[in-house]
Amino acid sequence: MKKYVYVIVMILYIGLSIIVINYAASWMVNKNYSAIASKAEDIAILTTKNFALTDAEVEELKKLEFKELLQHPANIRLADMFDFEYGHNDIRFVYIMTVLDEKEIKYQVTEEYKNFYGTQTGTPLNVIWLVSVVTGKTIEETLNEDKTFYDDIRRYSYLRATDLTAFHEKVPTNELSDDEYGYVITGLAPIYTEEGTFVGMLGVDIFIDEYEKNASFVRLLLLLVFLLPSIILTTVYILFYFTNLKQALLTAQTDPLTSTKNRRFMEKYMSQTVKEHYQKKQPLSVIMIDIDYFKGYNDNYGHQQGDKVLVAVTKAIASILRNHTDVICRYGGEEFLVILNNTNVPGAEIVANRIKTAVDTLAIKHEHSQVSDIVTISQGVYSAVPASANCEKLYIENADKSMYKAKNTGRNKYVVAETEEQSQGQ
Ligand code: GH3
Ligand code: MG
Ligand code: MG
Repeated sequence: MKKYVYVIVMILYIGLSIIVINYAASWMVNKNYSAIASKAEDIAILTTKNFALTDAEVEELKKLEFKELLQHPANIRLADMFDFEYGHNDIRFVYIMTVLDEKEIKYQVTEEYKNFYGTQTGTPLNVIWLVSVVTGKTIEETLNEDKTFYDDIRRYSYLRATDLTAFHEKVPTNELSDDEYGYVITGLAPIYTEEGTFVGMLGVDIFIDEYEKNASFVRLLLLLVFLLPSIILTTVYILFYFTNLKQALLTAQTDPLTSTKNRRFMEKYMSQTVKEHYQKKQPLSVIMIDIDYFKGYNDNYGHQQGDKVLVAVTKAIASILRNHTDVICRYGGEEFLVILNNTNVPGAEIVANRIKTAVDTLAIKHEHSQVSDIVTISQGVYSAVPASANCEKLYIENADKSMYKAKNTGRNKYVVAETEEQSQGQ
């Protein structure tokens, strides 16, 4: 019951953490985006108010080659404004975009160039940069840095859907874009000539890659702070749970007094090993062992002393078995079952003899036994290639019968069940 509660609590905690972190991170990011976006927009508006252009200059600028316009006094005026006033911002580009009339278009912008500008289908390409400033650089530096970029055809730009709306409505706006140059927030404001003619939109691009990186880092940090403890706790819990489970399984299969496998294990093991021997057509042997006159031992030496004998006999039997093929279980009170994998009658007899010798060697005094003056055992051996995949009961029954035969014919001996051949040993 407890473990389910834990699992449910953990799942809820992790789920909630993810929701909270995402919510907090988006809130933080959005708050900052909108702050930067309105800054970009404000700067664009302010620039349009301070940057004077005449109708004549606009007409002149339109006709220039891209490289020429960079060196035009109007462009230099704009560049100067940004060098001195806004140099501390992450403003990278300042420009004016204007829409040309059909007859003013110098280049037919091909599909190839459409791709270069990342335009969407239907976006007009009769937009040019009227002025174009790269902040923090002189015109010469700008030109030297990337000569082919300022080929005239590249002066043709494109409009995003939001630009288009701003153009139509002639209102300031801002937008976030993620292109090959990085994350950019653009502030746009309509610009007019001194004579009052609408020129186009003045754009201010603020790059926020650094900010984006920081935001991702913060998000990761939050995730770690929230999730790491729960992941560690869950892992520890799972390890703990499985260790306990393993221990519990082991305990369930072990006899507490003798520390050997118990009857529950034996039943499971027998059904499995009988199946395997049936499939491989190999002989399987079992030996049922019972201590002789053990009731008399208990009655005379006490139950606790009897327990010690059980432990000693178990150890003696286990000591002569081969770990990887033979198994000993406590079948009942003072009865043990030894399972000998891939062992035939002669092999089982050898083991039975060794068991007898091992118990005899203990030489535990038993003055109330009628067959010996030390503790002895009677054994019943059954050995066969299984006739079916689930005949394990037959093995126990036959070994038991043989053991009783040993009891009835004098004790302190083993009897091999009558299968193909019969034998008895002293
Ligand atoms: P037999 O030679 O015919 O086997 O005579 P027995 O007295 O051993 O007869 P039986 O096998 O029926 O006796 C089982 C006795 O084993 C009964 C009980 O006193 C003893 N015994 C069973 N379990 C335990 C145990 O856990 N501890 C101790 N000390 N004695 C046990
Ligand atoms: Mg018994
Ligand atoms: Mg007995």
